[in-house]
Amino acid sequence: MADIDPAIMEIVGEIDYDPDELRKRYAYERDVRLRPDKNQQYVETKAEFSHYIDDPYAEPLERDPLNDHTEVAIIGGGIGGLLIGARLRQAGFDDIRIIEKGGDLGGVWYWNRYPGLRCDTESYIYIPMIEEVDSMPTEKYSRGAEIQSNLLKIARRFDLYKNACLQTVVTGLEWDDAASRWTIRTDRGDAMTAQYVVMANGQLSKPKLPGIPGIDTFKGHTFHTSRWDYDYTGGDYLGNLTRLQDKNVGVIGTGATGVQAIPELAKWAKQLNVFQRTPAAVDVRANRPTDPQWASSLEPGWQDRRSDNFNKVSSGIMQDEDLVSDGFSELGRFADPTASWVAAVIGRELTPEEGAFISQTLDDKKMNEIRARIDATVTDKATAEALKPWHRRYCKRPLFSDEYLPAFNRPNVRLVDTAGKGVQRITETGAVVDGVEYPLDCLIFATGFEVGTEFTRRAGYDVVGRDGIELRQYWKDGMKTFQGMFTRGFPNCILVNFGQNAAANSFSFILDEQAKHVAHTLSEVRKRGGTTVEPSQQAVDDYVAEIKPLSFSQSAFWEQCTPSYFNGEGANENPHGFFANVHPAGGVAFYGMLAEWRNAANLDGLEVR
Ligand code: NDP
Repeated sequence: MADIDPAIMEIVGEIDYDPDELRKRYAYERDVRLRPDKNQQYVETKAEFSHYIDDPYAEPLERDPLNDHTEVAIIGGGIGGLLIGARLRQAGFDDIRIIEKGGDLGGVWYWNRYPGLRCDTESYIYIPMIEEVDSMPTEKYSRGAEIQSNLLKIARRFDLYKNACLQTVVTGLEWDDAASRWTIRTDRGDAMTAQYVVMANGQLSKPKLPGIPGIDTFKGHTFHTSRWDYDYTGGDYLGNLTRLQDKNVGVIGTGATGVQAIPELAKWAKQLNVFQRTPAAVDVRANRPTDPQWASSLEPGWQDRRSDNFNKVSSGIMQDEDLVSDGFSELGRFADPTASWVAAVIGRELTPEEGAFISQTLDDKKMNEIRARIDATVTDKATAEALKPWHRRYCKRPLFSDEYLPAFNRPNVRLVDTAGKGVQRITETGAVVDGVEYPLDCLIFATGFEVGTEFTRRAGYDVVGRDGIELRQYWKDGMKTFQGMFTRGFPNCILVNFGQNAAANSFSFILDEQAKHVAHTLSEVRKRGGTTVEPSQQAVDDYVAEIKPLSFSQSAFWEQCTPSYFNGEGANENPHGFFANVHPAGGVAFYGMLAEWRNAANLDGLEVR
């Protein structure tokens, strides 16, 4: 440490561990988890696995096929679709139709109802349009049901049920150039048309299953967490899973879903077996009820200001105040660009090496804290040791819970650690790890959602643009867009998603910025008397060139990470990977640039006809 500036050492504090040993341990734990089949290891929820994605919540619905016309069709009624609908309504668009697979609007919050489900970003910023619908979350981190009910308030406030098609799965989109409109086909035999289509079908919306040998042979009860079977477990999102009291339950998956569902399962199952491949890195949650005095003191515009402050703090941009002040805000201290807040403290720019040193050291210390919390909470020493994560904080989605670790102190909960290998085999009657079969009545998959496959595969439909060009084909080597939203050859078709844009810790912020973008663009086209809009070839080429160099130069960080959907299961070269196409500017600057583009009101880069 001799040649590190003492001012920097003051920021990072004492180094009371061996960084080289830690680095070796991280590398070892990564290496044992790397698999040659990478993203191919997962089983797609189709064919004999398609029942895993049936809607367990909706009543059967019969209706005649539609062949009518709408000005704007929005595919997906989740947060993205609802915000687009709301922003379009605010911009004066009446003729809107949301097409949604589920039995109600709400998207991810419709599908996910597992016990223990909560927002993992602060609800005051995550739940959109709180001020517009005159609502206030009851807790800092709301339960899923409260989020869903707030989303439905948006739907009602902006009249988005009107003309909506629920329980309807889009199967294909085709552009009719002569009529300047899209034909939308669905699983209900619809052939409706729309002048504009907005694809808001979600990012983590297609459940995935682990490719464990024998997965199709299990004869007990089984389901994916995003289709929770309360008929089988009893109870509801608050717990009370009384029908599990005489059951041996197994859960595979200890990610964001697992750490929330496991404490509830632990309370009710006769025996809970948690099959762990990679330990979860779980920091303090510190949820609390909303203070009514604080809520009544808020001035109009508070939600946007809070969200803006959070975005800056959580990406390391120095602010006078940290309004949210939680674990995600704290991550700003070692996320890129770490240098900006440190530079403000020490009064000079940092070298890249200094920035990397600070980032790495603060990360190490946070992870040491997370590991120490496990020792302090979990009484059985071997279990505590096996629960320790050995990777950098951002290698996986950061997790926060105050219930997860104590669950392992219950006598009915068994951690079945697989030493990074995963479950070896599933049999008719249980799951096998290290040659030992664990008998199970019920096996629950908390194994997450498909990432890193082509957009059209996850969406479940292809898009045929001008001159018969297929999106599947056009993006086969990766996305080609302008602003992550507009695609040449696919006029009037806008993508709202996380793709060729920038990341932010609150996903609903990204979706709202995109929704504002959609509303602005369609309003400007209207003002100009146009009927079609698409990006110029030049705009796409320039935009794609801005994106590519960064995504691949970031691999130094991702390569040393233990595999996850963030780094394409260790294969960062995947052009469809989660972070394969992020914009170099970072969330704050990127969405600021989009806002400036809207302020200029010249649709620069788009061609209107
Ligand atoms: P994840 O992808 O985060 O986790 C999947 C889990 O399944 C991992 O623990 C993974 O282990 C494990 N797994 C996969 N295959 C096997 C196998 N063969 N054997 C054993 N274990 C296996 O999915 P989640 O549903 O937890 O979360 C997905 C994302 O959804 C989150 O990152 C977050 O963005 C979002 N989310 C948000 C929530 C919120 O806001 N409250 C709640 C839930 C989800 P390994 O780590 O080794 O790959």
